[in-house]
Amino acid sequence: MSRRGILTVVSGFSGAGKGTVMRELVSRYQYKLSISATTRLPREGEVDGREYFFLTRDKFESMIEAEQFIEYAQYVGNYYGTPRKYVEEQLNAGYNVILEIEIQGALHVKEVFPEALLLFIVPPNAKILRERLVNRGTEDEATVKKRLSRAVEEAQFMNKYDYLVVNDQLDICVEDVHRIILSEQDKMQYNQEFINEMQRQLEAIQEGDL
Ligand code: 5GP
Repeated sequence: MSRRGILTVVSGFSGAGKGTVMRELVSRYQYKLSISATTRLPREGEVDGREYFFLTRDKFESMIEAEQFIEYAQYVGNYYGTPRKYVEEQLNAGYNVILEIEIQGALHVKEVFPEALLLFIVPPNAKILRERLVNRGTEDEATVKKRLSRAVEEAQFMNKYDYLVVNDQLDICVEDVHRIILSEQDKMQYNQEFINEMQRQLEAIQEGDL
């Protein structure tokens, strides 16, 4: 593959179902999902190196120092960051890469990679969001509250994203995300090689060489 991959950043309120959408997306299609580092503790069933790289604050801070993150942010008392190496390698190899990160990180990525595609996943309404967070049962009441108040803050920045995707039915949401990324791929800026080859062939025809 010679063309550079597309970098897609997916955000959404905690409880919007992003994680499930991402898992389903990579099981259906050939996307590379970046694994973030975090200082939060693993939830039950989470495995180091699969959902996240679970790090101590010291280790995380030394990686910040060494500029090993594309972006990082604090979210509800913990650090979260995107390791640089994997993302750059995959994009250069032509793969489409997805980052599932919160809003401050997403806006930072847009500064560093202006061509990044920013998607915001929302539940159909706020009541459903609260229900999903409570029913998930992985957080105590205080954390659910913090995550909801974080959603209030995040809602102010949603309009900085390129696309809004409603997660009502998982299947439709997954296909919506896939469709948006596919159309991004058709933009002229990702097809320079095709354009060059077409120009070359047209000139060759004009000169009778083809
Ligand atoms: P959770 O603790 O529920 O797994 O994640 C909390 C929030 O952190 C989610 O909004 C998730 O998208 C975000 N997040 C996960 N990884 C990263 C990262 O590498 N960078 C940033 N900025 N946010 C992240």
